[in-house]
Amino acid sequence: MGFTFSVACLLLFVSTSYQLQVKNGTNGYVTYQIGGRRTNVVISAPHGGTLKPGNLPDRPENGCYDSANDECIYQAGCSGDDDVSNCKVLSELGDWNTQHLAVELADSIQARFKGRKKRRPHVVRCELHRSKLDANRDLGEAAFGNAEAALAWEEYHGFIDEAKRAVRGNVFYIDVHGHSLHDWNMIGVLLSKSGSNGFNKAVLPDRLAQYSSIMQLHVDSGVSMEELVRGNTSIGGFLQPFYETAPSPVNKDAGSRAFYSGGYSLRRHTGWKANGIQVEAIYAVRSDETVRKAFADKLAKAIIYWIKNYL
Ligand SMILES: [Zn+2]
Repeated sequence: MGFTFSVACLLLFVSTSYQLQVKNGTNGYVTYQIGGRRTNVVISAPHGGTLKPGNLPDRPENGCYDSANDECIYQAGCSGDDDVSNCKVLSELGDWNTQHLAVELADSIQARFKGRKKRRPHVVRCELHRSKLDANRDLGEAAFGNAEAALAWEEYHGFIDEAKRAVRGNVFYIDVHGHSLHDWNMIGVLLSKSGSNGFNKAVLPDRLAQYSSIMQLHVDSGVSMEELVRGNTSIGGFLQPFYETAPSPVNKDAGSRAFYSGGYSLRRHTGWKANGIQVEAIYAVRSDETVRKAFADKLAKAIIYWIKNYL
């Protein structure tokens, strides 16, 4: 509804700060920095946006609980106990500075490829604050029926799809987030911290690959899930010497800590020929430019190792 018209309205211009081609979504609510022709990497940041346009309604704190079908209907105006307990919505807290971290990660990956433009990753960002749109939810919960927010959601995921199509070969997708639940960074590959398909096991069985966001990479490389998820060459393995991270060789599981295994975007944008991770960065590694760039550089080293050896 109206999406075809909006695509025609996209602006293409050259950004002065990064000298990159950037596509803007309608009203600048979504931006896409186009990567180089030889990159495999697509980076997204759904929750770092700061725009709060007055004409877009705030997303409510909860949806409406439909007890007959045991499901949530995402519309405003429900405040019953069942609605609040069953259909809670995260809207107030954005992932501060992850907009910058996403670009700095792209900078670091390009720098480690000797600055070659053709190896620069694609970067897609939602510039709206999470109180207006949650791009990492399915459409109902994301936009609560608001047409303008829904359009931004379509453009956000449309840009990620476009970036993935531009990649020759297999995709490596990185969804960048921040959390303040505890002091460990988290690397999610859609495996929960516990349960039959969780990573709270002495040795991770390879059968877990089918439930993960790294199945293609596991099958093609022949590297065990144990190594990929928390071995020395896991993403957490590269970060752990410098930053407390789970899972990693030191922190094999998350213990009693909360753990985010990955959300809507990681599920949607990985699968056949597309691998991905959700990065949850603690505040201490995104609070200012200096710490963000240091963290981005270590993360870039890990990602490049994977691209060269496993993808
Ligand atoms: Zn987030």
